[in-house]
Amino acid sequence: MPTPNETAPEPILPPPPQVYSSGRKVLSFVTTLFGVTVPLVGLVAGMYLAWGWGFGWVDFGLLFGMYLLSMLGVTVGFHRLFTHRSFQTVRPIEILLGALGSMSFQGPLLDWVGRHRLHHQHSDKEGDPHSPYPHARGVKGWLAGFWHSHIGWAFTPMPDGLDRYAGDWRRDSVIRTVSVLFPLWAFLGVFIPSVIGLCFGGWQGALTGFVWGGLVRILLGHHATWSVNSICHLWGKKPFACGDESRNNVLVGIVALGEGWHNNHHAFPSSARHGLKWWQFDLSWLVIRTLVICRLAWKVRLPSRGELIARAENPAGPLPTAGTAS
Ligand SMILES: [Zn+2]
Ligand SMILES: [Zn+2]
Repeated sequence: MPTPNETAPEPILPPPPQVYSSGRKVLSFVTTLFGVTVPLVGLVAGMYLAWGWGFGWVDFGLLFGMYLLSMLGVTVGFHRLFTHRSFQTVRPIEILLGALGSMSFQGPLLDWVGRHRLHHQHSDKEGDPHSPYPHARGVKGWLAGFWHSHIGWAFTPMPDGLDRYAGDWRRDSVIRTVSVLFPLWAFLGVFIPSVIGLCFGGWQGALTGFVWGGLVRILLGHHATWSVNSICHLWGKKPFACGDESRNNVLVGIVALGEGWHNNHHAFPSSARHGLKWWQFDLSWLVIRTLVICRLAWKVRLPSRGELIARAENPAGPLPTAGTAS
């Protein structure tokens, strides 16, 4: 059984200055546009191919299997292990999770960690890279806020000073190398399903493996992850008071493998478990539990019963107001 542990506060750093050269802006815009539109083209191609060739069990297996593996790389690896250090594990699993998460095409590991720590330290306030709230006034503003928090933020370059937000892992040469090798892992993320498709169905199988296990899987993973930033700061329940607009959303909880219990997560960022109630399905937590049972993970951090009671919404008075959420 994992040992309950205190959730250690992370140091609050000022947000890095958002000053970019026009060259960096253009590069960021073009690479993100490429990363967003190519999977969309893949979906259209997949539907066209399915119309002519059908959609077989191998295609389904590659779509589902690659989705699970790459998303667990993000949820268990990028998020709970690397960003929040909510458990410790052996080096091969660290590398495996870093590689699998990179296959989701969400950028290099250490950039992801830096940006997400920035989100937690300035949630729904100035400096949060993807809050919907500075825009949320009126229907038009609300739509602009949704767009920014879901996808628009990805078109802005990484702030210059973001390195210091992942300084702990940057000093680790192995993890730094895993992060630098992002293009290799990303390539493998589309190459592996293509090769499996080739083995089962020749060149036709290779093409459908590339489309379903590669492009369409990336599209679904992108929107599932981005929904945590957008939907889970707009719709859902807030059982805990944490001074921001994070919400628990059942649908995102299931689709994003437990990450949709986002209010729980903002209340206890270091907790390895996000679905804190028995009915809050959290596949990523089940994976961490399995690693613990296999003695491959330890120092698992969970909120104590006292902390759960202390943070429960409105136990002794009104909630704090939600920052700049106006
Ligand atoms: Zn959040
Ligand atoms: Zn987080």
